[in-house]
Amino acid sequence: MLTLDGSIGEGGGQILRTALSLSLITGQPFRLQRVRAHRPRPGLQRQHLASVEAAARVSGGHVSGATLGSTEVAFEPGPVRPGAYRLAVGTAGSATLVLQTILMPLVLAAGPSRLVLEGGTHNPWAPPFDFLAQAFLPLVARLGPRFGSRLERWGFYPAGGGRFEVEVLPAAEPLRRLEIGPRGALKASRVFGVAAGLPRAIAARSVETALGHLRLPQAYVDIREVASDGPGHALLIELLFEHLSAIVTGFGEKGVRPEEMATAAAEEAREFLDAGVPVGTHLADQLLLPLALAGGSFLTLAPTAHTSTNLGVVRRFLPVDLRCEPQGHGVWRVSCEAGHLAGRA
Ligand code: ATP
Repeated sequence: MLTLDGSIGEGGGQILRTALSLSLITGQPFRLQRVRAHRPRPGLQRQHLASVEAAARVSGGHVSGATLGSTEVAFEPGPVRPGAYRLAVGTAGSATLVLQTILMPLVLAAGPSRLVLEGGTHNPWAPPFDFLAQAFLPLVARLGPRFGSRLERWGFYPAGGGRFEVEVLPAAEPLRRLEIGPRGALKASRVFGVAAGLPRAIAARSVETALGHLRLPQAYVDIREVASDGPGHALLIELLFEHLSAIVTGFGEKGVRPEEMATAAAEEAREFLDAGVPVGTHLADQLLLPLALAGGSFLTLAPTAHTSTNLGVVRRFLPVDLRCEPQGHGVWRVSCEAGHLAGRA
């Protein structure tokens, strides 16, 4: 059994999720110690337990130590069984992160899957549903699988209650490489403000602020009030390039003015626009797993602690040459010459 240390690098929940994904894919059992050691409340929280439960359900695997607050967990996977699953976090914890835990194992499974996920859909510190649907899944689809996704109900922290569906249709052919290439010209953009249980004017203020900072040519402006179990506010800056889409998100917080939140999101979007790279920092850490499996490369910004840490976890499971190398001017190249499953159906 592989023993992993949850206090390395970022020391957060991603170490667990990546380990679960790779354990399902390789059949390698693991034990994770010092779970989420660098977080204010270390150990397994509801969202992490939901990820462990999801991995156990899709494989009939065995788990020990899966209780709230546990700082050590062991997982022995069974064979991945595609099919229909309803997976509920039970709190406002991120349901998109639960999906990411089982996504690649189901992409590599023998048949299609239909997943219903419940919990938070737009959480700070996690990929929002829109990012998943428009930025992440289309790039994973370049490996060959096809996806369908639909947001049914928005779920914000702390009330949760969100719901979305994802269909996974595995590729019939061997995996294709993930050679992302240049993003191409900016074709269109949308600055999308969403408010749930809060005045529409709050979303309008964040959209106005972002537009003022970004000065995007002919941005499509969208301001909406949506239904949700509790209050929430998000700003989604969607950038549609010739060859791919990127999304930068700001999340409303109690005590933080919408203008302040929108300025931070606009600055992140501006940095990404100016850098000229196809892959932003969040997408970079999330693409390491598909990249290590299929092989390929992409250009991105300087690696975050999430990226370096995730790289270390992938290397513990797979004997691949996964590299992250500076190219000058703040641009980095992430590559994997020979993917672990390259050429295999
Ligand atoms: P904790 O860190 O508290 O353990 P966690 O389980 O949420 O919580 P992290 O290890 O912090 O896990 O991983 C969060 C993931 O969410 C990373 O892949 C990160 O890139 C991604 N992420 C965070 N914010 C965004 C965002 N705004 N857009 C897209 N992805 C995001």
